[in-house]
Amino acid sequence: MAARLLPLRGLLRFGGSRRLSVQPSAVQTEQSSAKRKEPSSSKRLTDIGTRRIFSSDHDIFRESVRKFFQEEVLPFHAEWEKDGQVSKELWKKAGEQGLLGVAIAEKHGGIGADILSSAVVWEEQMYVNCTGPGFALHSDIVMPYITNYGSEEQIKRFIPPMVEGKCIGAIAMTEPGAGSDLQGVRTYAKKDGSDWILNGSKMFITNGWMCDVVIVVAVTNREATTPAHGISLFLVENGTKGFVKGRKLEKIGLKAQDTAELFFEDVRLPASALLGKENKGFYYLMAELPQERLLISDMALASCEFMFEETRDYVRQRKAFGKTIAHLQTVQHKLAEIKTQICIGRAFVDNCLQLHADKRLDTGTASMAKYWASDLQNSVATQCVQLHGGCGYMWEYPIAKAFADSRVQPIYGGTNEIMKELIARDIVSDN
Ligand SMILES: Cc1cc2nc3c(=O)[nH]c(=O)nc-3n(C[C@H](O)[C@H](O)[C@H](O)COP(=O)(O)OP(=O)(O)OC[C@H]3O[C@@H](n4cnc5c(N)ncnc54)[C@H](O)[C@@H]3O)c2cc1C
Repeated sequence: MAARLLPLRGLLRFGGSRRLSVQPSAVQTEQSSAKRKEPSSSKRLTDIGTRRIFSSDHDIFRESVRKFFQEEVLPFHAEWEKDGQVSKELWKKAGEQGLLGVAIAEKHGGIGADILSSAVVWEEQMYVNCTGPGFALHSDIVMPYITNYGSEEQIKRFIPPMVEGKCIGAIAMTEPGAGSDLQGVRTYAKKDGSDWILNGSKMFITNGWMCDVVIVVAVTNREATTPAHGISLFLVENGTKGFVKGRKLEKIGLKAQDTAELFFEDVRLPASALLGKENKGFYYLMAELPQERLLISDMALASCEFMFEETRDYVRQRKAFGKTIAHLQTVQHKLAEIKTQICIGRAFVDNCLQLHADKRLDTGTASMAKYWASDLQNSVATQCVQLHGGCGYMWEYPIAKAFADSRVQPIYGGTNEIMKELIARDIVSDN
């Protein structure tokens, strides 16, 4: 794939269809010119060309991503909400457009852009208020496990089709008896010659119904000194005998995102299905979770920005007592408070994005971003629904969907209570 990519002033052109993304070097050069508008002084919080962490190359990429979500996702989302999943075709279209595996290195078959370009993709998804496509989990949670810990053979097998949207990825940690307490997983992989026999069940798995490959967290050493020393990761492919997908779960939000139960009944896996080293799985999870938490926090902020603009538009046209409700001082003050909170949150999350781009984001800081931004998202959602009155409670209004979708954010990716545990650990530690 790398041979087909022609660098073009920081942009990438791929095959016949145009793929735009930003190479890491292009970002550094533009960061020194801090002439970009701050979100607080831009016309709308979703404007292109704002925020110091981005460059004009990111802006061009953002324009194409915005067009994609507006044309290929927004018009179909209501139908997908009824189906409880998006279409397979959408994944392929996203692959053709170069929106999957954006930050995966070219040498691994990815697009080879920076993590800020990935952020552009997941932010734009929130700006159309369409939570169905599980792109961020696929590209920026699942794929990094494969490229960071996988063998050359595994990378070659999975990454190119994942970038093309022909192979959908998922990760299965949570079980009926183990969520926050990840060390309590019961799914067990027993050695049988050079093979493994996998048994257990997983629940609440994003992309679980549509996935072609799933990373499964399993115990491989029941006698380890601590459970963390006896956990490994496995790549399990759809169609493997004994791998059964349960029902698509009905949720109060994220209606178009497929979330499923997965069952493993005497699944025979070859040695090549082990991802990374035996019994090192827990350490891989701990290393990768900060990116997952950063991603959730940035999506939370982007959702806040969407909800604010949606509500601003609404109050400017909704009339009560002979004037628009935007004329009421209580409404104006409420919007002033919301905008201020969002801009403060944006400053912290952008700082975390830059820290992560520089490979300096630590677990405690990522946890702060996840807990604070997802709580803010829920507070903004509640207030924006209130400003919409009865319409805010109607599913046909985008704000109602944004409200329902926001509720899960403090729960998954590690609950916000667990985030506080992680933050507190650093505060009271002697080291
Ligand atoms: C829509 C959705 C998608 C998901 N996608 C995935 C996925 O793709 N892959 C995956 O593996 N999982 C996924 N999950 C699972 C998610 O990560 C877990 O639900 C989450 O980690 C919480 O675990 P739990 O549900 O078992 O809650 P529990 O661990 O049972 O927690 C219940 C409550 O107790 C609190 N609590 C627990 N322990 C502590 C503690 N030590 N201190 C303070 N409070 C505590 C929690 O904060 C929470 O409020 C998804 C969940 C949802 C809802």
